[in-house]
Amino acid sequence: MARYIFITGGVVSSLGKGLMAASLGALLQARGYKVRIRKFDPYLNVDPGTMSPYQHGEVYVTDDGAETDLDLGHYERFTGVSAKQADNVTSGRVYQDIIAKERRGDYLGATVQVVPHVTDEIKNFALADQDDHDFILCEIGGTVGDIESLPFMEAIRQLRNELEPGRTLSVHVTLVPFIAAAGELKTKPTQHSVRELASLGIKPDVLLCRCEHPLPDGERAKIAQFCNVRTEAVIPALDAPSIYSVPLQYHEEGLDSEVLRGFGITDAPEPDMARWRDVTDRYFNPEGEVTIGVVGKYVGLQDAYKSLNEALVHGGLANRVKVNIQWIDAEIFEQDTPDVTAQLEPMHGILVPGGFGERGSEGKIASVRFAREHNVPFFGICLGMQLACIESARTAGHEDASSTEFGETNEPVVGIIEEWMSEEGLEKREAGGDLGGTMRLGAYDAVLAGNSHVSRIYSGAEEISERHRHRYEVNAAYRSALEQDGLIFSGMSPDGLLPEIVERPDHPWFVGVQFHPELKSKPFAPHPLFAGFVAAALRQSRLV
Ligand code: GLN
Repeated sequence: MARYIFITGGVVSSLGKGLMAASLGALLQARGYKVRIRKFDPYLNVDPGTMSPYQHGEVYVTDDGAETDLDLGHYERFTGVSAKQADNVTSGRVYQDIIAKERRGDYLGATVQVVPHVTDEIKNFALADQDDHDFILCEIGGTVGDIESLPFMEAIRQLRNELEPGRTLSVHVTLVPFIAAAGELKTKPTQHSVRELASLGIKPDVLLCRCEHPLPDGERAKIAQFCNVRTEAVIPALDAPSIYSVPLQYHEEGLDSEVLRGFGITDAPEPDMARWRDVTDRYFNPEGEVTIGVVGKYVGLQDAYKSLNEALVHGGLANRVKVNIQWIDAEIFEQDTPDVTAQLEPMHGILVPGGFGERGSEGKIASVRFAREHNVPFFGICLGMQLACIESARTAGHEDASSTEFGETNEPVVGIIEEWMSEEGLEKREAGGDLGGTMRLGAYDAVLAGNSHVSRIYSGAEEISERHRHRYEVNAAYRSALEQDGLIFSGMSPDGLLPEIVERPDHPWFVGVQFHPELKSKPFAPHPLFAGFVAAALRQSRLV
């Protein structure tokens, strides 16, 4: 039976709890344990699918088609364990399920209440689908004391009581701020936060103290004394030079041994950290650098492109180079006197990422054109692929080529797809229907054309599976027109109807994909498309 680790945060938000959970998962895994990491999100949205990337960062999509919190991306990148719908729940989803049951009469007339109905639902979520895991880590979003998180805290309190002794552990992540004027680290916020948690009936077993300066032994002992934990269970978590250093650093500080000790496990094998040493070695000792221009819409907030950012870094790790990412707002190419060349000439590669809506699309098309005409490596992802097709169609004489996403057009090179086959059977969508959860979501196969550039990139594979999140498709009716212009459809859905990959054989590296390869890249297993794109950018950097 799985053991449970509950991870809560205190003092302030943005302490990097997600990364901490991912790192602890990676450490336990490196000791040979089977782990799974889950996220409880206290907000009322049913899932993050309809939330603005500006506010909430990217939506991470799983193989089974769930639109989830971006922390699931950290978990998957650090453990390699493919995240599932069952790994992310929000208050909105919990209430949606409860209200549906209430309407069906499932509660047989009982008064439906936060305790026990909401808390039971949360506990069921935590306990579901344990398989043969050794550890299930549950991260609770938000900060202790938030009104929204109270039912989650109550559910944890109950679970800690109900599961056999020794099967649960509470890790609390806090901040130990440095007050420059006094030249001191302050432990009081941590004390208050632990008290707040204790008032909810949860006594932490391990404290992970985020700090900018090393935590002296005296302060560590003081926190231990006031917070009712062993001194060794107060783990200093100094700011790390890179996220890839975090698992190694937390191991040095004793996090995994202390967690195991909390479960009474003292004879666990030492973790095999070879893959993390290799990743950090590659990261900190690059043998060159490349600059990639990412022409997008949400460039002000890097969390909006979290996985993309990571996958580009992974592409750099694969080639032992540093990847400098230049975030470029597509709209600057739509001004009266756009200077595309001045902006894009210094780039060794140009990437147009996924996105929604018309804003910035002409600017993105201008950057596709620049990449095509100047033989600069180009990578178009999802909307980026769709725009690459529109750009080609326009050069091939279809001047009005556009996407129906941007309004009515008589040249719908990109249009809405209303029916498609998924594992569950025929899926349907209506043009004016709900926005949430109605896209083509999750893993779908693509068949690769033999002897194509992408089949070489995927080491000769004939069929691949990648994750999707889109409502529109490139219109296969334009295939022959585009192929005559040199844009080859080198990947199609198995039924041959939906274009999945396009490429230009007459260009050094020009690939557009309808899916999101960035979601499956890992630091220790960089995605081949990103490894290939960065390799092409490296060749480009040697030309200029
Ligand atoms: N907006 C486009 C669509 O819905 C592309 C989506 C994306 O890039 N994720 O098809």
